[in-house]
Amino acid sequence: MSQQEPIREMICISCPLGCHLSLYKDENDELTVTGNKCKRGVVYAEEEYYAPKRVVTCTCPAESEVFPRLPVRTTTSLPKEHIDALLRAAYALTVKPPVACGEVLIENFEGTGVDLIASMSLGAEQ
Ligand code: SF4
Repeated sequence: MSQQEPIREMICISCPLGCHLSLYKDENDELTVTGNKCKRGVVYAEEEYYAPKRVVTCTCPAESEVFPRLPVRTTTSLPKEHIDALLRAAYALTVKPPVACGEVLIENFEGTGVDLIASMSLGAEQ
């Protein structure tokens, strides 16, 4: 294993320690992870390798003179292959105040179970 080159290296972001993970594949296509100080590092590496996800934050146009763009985010991590489409959908929205922080703006995006929500409240007078 030590002479084999890792197929991928990454930093585990599951806790502040930030372990440097190395990923290897054996002849049976089995993934092995080294460098992790706990099991969460293996879970993180496997998910990041096979099915990476990200929490998405961006802004949507809003009908407000004070805040012409409303900060928004996904409720949880979204599979990476859906991120471009979500950003396009978010930029195409026009949010009409009042909007409450946490209000769902796009529900169950592309059947992923992930919602896009407002990250701040925007009153009708703003
Ligand atoms: S492997 Fe464990 S100890 Fe290391 S960064 Fe990930 S969660 Fe933290």
